[in-house]
Amino acid sequence: MTRKLNTNRYLDYNASAPIRPNVISAMQEAMHLVGNPSSVHKHGREVSKSLAEARDILTETVGAKNSRVIFTSGGTESNNLALHGRKIGTTMVSDIEHDSVLFAADAQHRISVNLDGVVDLTRFEEIFSRRTSPSLISVMLANNETGVIQPLHEISSIAHHHGCLVHCDGVQALGKMDINMSDLGVDLLSLSAHKIGGPKGVGALIISDNVKIGPQLIGGGQEYSLRPGTENFISISGFAATLADIQAQAEEISRISTMRSNLENKLRKAFPDVEVFGRNSPRLINTTCVRMRGLPAETQVIALDLAGISVSAGSACSSGKVTTSHVLKAMGLSSAIANETIRISIGWGTTDDDIASATKAWIELQEKALLGDFLGEHQTT
Ligand code: PLP
Repeated sequence: MTRKLNTNRYLDYNASAPIRPNVISAMQEAMHLVGNPSSVHKHGREVSKSLAEARDILTETVGAKNSRVIFTSGGTESNNLALHGRKIGTTMVSDIEHDSVLFAADAQHRISVNLDGVVDLTRFEEIFSRRTSPSLISVMLANNETGVIQPLHEISSIAHHHGCLVHCDGVQALGKMDINMSDLGVDLLSLSAHKIGGPKGVGALIISDNVKIGPQLIGGGQEYSLRPGTENFISISGFAATLADIQAQAEEISRISTMRSNLENKLRKAFPDVEVFGRNSPRLINTTCVRMRGLPAETQVIALDLAGISVSAGSACSSGKVTTSHVLKAMGLSSAIANETIRISIGWGTTDDDIASATKAWIELQEKALLGDFLGEHQTT
């Protein structure tokens, strides 16, 4: 029996988006191709042709001229490949990067962000006047917790002026804003399928032809010998189908953007001083990072879950534990404030009804918390 896709009240798209129906069909179709893409016979060539088409869809989507697409298992692997694959010189990362950059980079330099969550360009430029200036920097295009978009074009111009390469984690930005790797001046770009309605466990690192990196795995010659092993062709087909589906849904971006505005406007109407972090910066159209006064984020997530609404604490990490968000701390917020903040993130399957329910539940919870009426528990430390 086939299970029905249930996107009801699911508002945690930045963690993982529900898979798109058209992607399921494309993957089912791909399962009917039998060959290994490295085989020279007809069956192999069929798969290899589809693989090449998937690569083309990716490069077209992100305006990647003269570059190689290396399919990986997702954003984490792409970030590791980019940062470990480049062994020359020193690395600099921003304070708000995803853990897969922060921990992979072994960075000798850090770039801070301002109160609005944007990289401080003046301090960034200053770092290049130091004796050991970086040879590789990594700055994400859009943050997973706040949705804040970084000025990658400016960052790349400064970095290139000093002979430094630019890696960009584009995992959260893909499919939610236009990306043009050439215009952004990015040399290496990490992507993942599951944040936008593709399958989990597939992604890509796009590398400009003039950039040389080494592999993390040793084996066959697949993926330019940078990621050996038979390609995860079914998921790769799903990744390509995801991008095609987004392109075909012309109204999707504005629909999501309107729903996010409705959500924030309703919260602001109920509580005029509600704090939405990153709201003064260019932001992804789907993300709201919002503080509920007087209630720990973990309690908010549980209470909303009981009301049937799935969101996450901005600070929930991969182990599921909630720690103080390094992103909000980097923006200068106290632990007390950061620990009262959750992330609401929406996407292709979200409806006006989901927004109405989530807003109602959030407002009721905030009212209770302010009255000190929430299970007698409304203390934050
Ligand atoms: N980079 C960012 C900004 C993310 O939000 C995530 C996922 O949470 C990743 C990288 C890791 O991607 P994946 O889950 O595909 O490994």
